[in-house]
Amino acid sequence: MAKLVLIGSGLAGGLLAAYLGRRGYDVDLYERRADPREGNIVGGRSINLAISTRGIHALEQIGIADEALQHAIPMRGRMIHPAGAGARTIFSPYDVDPKNCINSIGRAVLNTTLIEAAQRYSNVRVHFNHKCTDVDVDSATVQLLKTNGSSVAAGVSPANPQNEIIQARGDAVIGVDGAFSAVRQSMQMHIDNFQYDESYLAHGYKELTIPPGPDGSWRMEKNALHIWPRKSFMMIALPNPDGSFTCTLFWEFEGPRSFATTKTDADVRRFFDEEFPDAFPLMPTLLEDFRENPTGSLVTIRCAPWYYKDKVALLGDAAHAVVPFYGQGMNAAFEDCVVLDECLEKFPDNRKRAFSEYFSRRKENTDALADLAIGNFVEMRDKTASKTFRAKKKLDHLLEAVLPGIYLPLYTMVTFTRIPYAAAARRARLQDHMVYGTLAFLVLIATIGIIRLFIR
Ligand code: FAD
Repeated sequence: MAKLVLIGSGLAGGLLAAYLGRRGYDVDLYERRADPREGNIVGGRSINLAISTRGIHALEQIGIADEALQHAIPMRGRMIHPAGAGARTIFSPYDVDPKNCINSIGRAVLNTTLIEAAQRYSNVRVHFNHKCTDVDVDSATVQLLKTNGSSVAAGVSPANPQNEIIQARGDAVIGVDGAFSAVRQSMQMHIDNFQYDESYLAHGYKELTIPPGPDGSWRMEKNALHIWPRKSFMMIALPNPDGSFTCTLFWEFEGPRSFATTKTDADVRRFFDEEFPDAFPLMPTLLEDFRENPTGSLVTIRCAPWYYKDKVALLGDAAHAVVPFYGQGMNAAFEDCVVLDECLEKFPDNRKRAFSEYFSRRKENTDALADLAIGNFVEMRDKTASKTFRAKKKLDHLLEAVLPGIYLPLYTMVTFTRIPYAAAARRARLQDHMVYGTLAFLVLIATIGIIRLFIR
């Protein structure tokens, strides 16, 4: 069986290694960080994230959904915290079917579960503290900087005498090394006409904490994703099993009120007191968190093709990073694993065709997801607070209930089905035209009826 070299044991890397291990490939997975089981923090990314139907399906296919989900907390809807002191929270369920919920899960625990699932296959080997620095795309040879772990945290330097440069050669290399993929960079450098596009939002994000109550309980509704929509910015909070919430503030980098202008503790205190008066008293470590936690950027990456001959392929954020507002980046990366596995099964003796079919099945869909994710930022930060939004959600749920299987709201299709993202987006547009066209027609008929009554 062919030997595959995987770069990156983040969320998708571990899962992909498990799928490929099950298919019998000889797999070497290289990760630049230390083993997360040795207390290494997953670092600089969201502490928890939402997993939904697509991601769960991918875990089920490899038999680890229950193992992973035992650490998850179901979130049945959005808990909206309107602006203004004393404003009451409003709960908006995600779906007409209360069983349809998204699940808050810790990145570190999920990452560990995935790596352990991969390591159950004796033909999968995981090597931590190995940073990919270059890929020879024609020979599927990877150059790696092997570090002693501590030097990774301090910034990897080939000049460090404790570090060693080694090579790994496979029949193919798969880059699962995230949004700033080194494998993709090598493809950019070595492949003619490789298309690449990255775009950053004007907003960054910072993670903050609401610790558990004194008895270890959650200090807000546990089974909800909390949103503080504030038009041009917002904060969200997802529950953790230890009774805490991880809050994420999405805010402009620059501008009169922004990360750039909020410098002192007094600035931070004033901003939170004004904008999030109900959350502020629940955040005793706010000032330290704000000062010490990094401000992350939000990038959308599109590239093509995701493969080179039968030698190199990209998967997950390395191929298609999206902004996090649909809670689908990891779910889409997990779906990639399922599709690539299906393509390798379909073309066992022709890896290039497998890579090519995987790319063509996924590209249109992840492009559609990228657009949906940006659209949902506007919806979450601005529209969720409005009565029109809540009326639209109620109408969506009513139509879904009276037209089962015929009408499916966009959020439901994206989050609670495996309808390809592009098809979901097209179907939602068509449904909107039909519903609003019908409503407009009914209003017209009613207006004509009223005018006629008056004329008589
Ligand atoms: P990553 O998880 O980034 O893993 C890449 C791995 O490669 C890392 O372990 C990294 O150390 C390693 N690596 C990188 N470079 C090298 C190298 N040169 N050599 C060796 N190893 C390397 N998605 C959801 O589905 N739901 C959510 O609720 C959600 N919330 C999010 C919130 C935020 C704030 C952000 C930023 C993202 C969120 N996402 C969410 C998206 C999700 O985090 C990503 O889509 C997902 O992590 C992609 O997995 P991946 O394995 O492709 O990349």
